[in-house]
Amino acid sequence: MDRFTPADFIAMVQAHGIAYHEKTLGQLFCDGSARQIVAMLLSECDRAAAQGGHVAIALSSPISSVSHSDGRYHVRYGHDKQANAPSLVIATGGPSIPKMGASGFAYDLARQFGLKIVEPRPALVPLTLGGADVMLRQLSGVSADVEVRCGKTRFREAALLTHKGLSGPAILQISSYWRHGQEIAIDFLPDEAPGWLGAMKREKPRGNIKGALSLHLSARLAEMLAEQIRLLGNLADLPDRKLNEAEASLADWRFLPNGTEGFGKAEVTAGGIATDGLSQKTMEAREIPGLFVIGEAVDVTGWLGGYNFQWAWASGVAAGQAV
Ligand SMILES: Cc1cc2nc3c(=O)[nH]c(=O)nc-3n(C[C@H](O)[C@H](O)[C@H](O)COP(=O)(O)OP(=O)(O)OC[C@H]3O[C@@H](n4cnc5c(N)ncnc54)[C@H](O)[C@@H]3O)c2cc1C
Repeated sequence: MDRFTPADFIAMVQAHGIAYHEKTLGQLFCDGSARQIVAMLLSECDRAAAQGGHVAIALSSPISSVSHSDGRYHVRYGHDKQANAPSLVIATGGPSIPKMGASGFAYDLARQFGLKIVEPRPALVPLTLGGADVMLRQLSGVSADVEVRCGKTRFREAALLTHKGLSGPAILQISSYWRHGQEIAIDFLPDEAPGWLGAMKREKPRGNIKGALSLHLSARLAEMLAEQIRLLGNLADLPDRKLNEAEASLADWRFLPNGTEGFGKAEVTAGGIATDGLSQKTMEAREIPGLFVIGEAVDVTGWLGGYNFQWAWASGVAAGQAV
């Protein structure tokens, strides 16, 4: 999607005089409000209309049906409105966060027109814990900068303990890779070099594990982890072998999530309308002339940090240039 890159989007934002700043990991935020981006998109629509394009915006007007006859797509929407055109772009997203208007309508259309669907599932979503891990609920609200792993995928960001399980950027990222029945592993101290507890023992022989952990983690989390490790007493009295085992546990703490918080809390949908039925260049369905699919309706899922918006913009430009 090199016809509309992140640099093109930033150039558009700058051209509209929208001030922004960078937060961690290159994430950009409006200095004012995200409404400025909506205003920018609306003003781009006005510009297109002024150049002879036709732009009509209908809000709070759900589409009830789409049909295709005589080379045209016929759309019924709102109470009794209709539109028809030689091309139709499906841009109704995925089912994530229905209370914000999300729906599985794109998949209804895909089934109607015979497009393949890769099973949709919630992604960028908090994970839920059960069994022995429910004791973590007492720590709801505690966060830590961790490395989280699932299979070969790993992310280094903050994780947050919640009353249902695990959330925070690191967990949302890994959730897109996690499948039911898989464990995830958390390294609670990703910056500590091997042997750090031994070094601490020599530096502060009268210290204990909880105190050592408290130097890096919140007191409540340090206490819980120290209780789980079950190494009591002064560091001086603990053999290096035991300290190395404790370090290994802290670097590879296993959780077996029992699910996710579902589409109600998922920032994106993984899966969707299969890419192999669509032209990579134009997003047009290979077998159905004039039918295009863009954005989150498609089986393309990005990381946290703007990748999903960028995909929506870029695929929209690709289709827009072809219709
Ligand atoms: C809380 C939250 C935070 C997010 N944060 C980020 C982020 O920081 N960075 C990032 O890249 N992505 C983020 N995303 C994901 C991003 O918003 C989506 O990937 C992107 O908006 C997809 O664009 P889209 O146009 O394909 O679909 P959408 O933005 O979902 O738009 C689809 C539209 O179609 C409408 N619709 C659905 N069914 C019908 C129907 N039957 N009739 C008429 N209209 C219908 C919906 O109401 C909606 O307005 C976030 C998502 C959520 C929910």
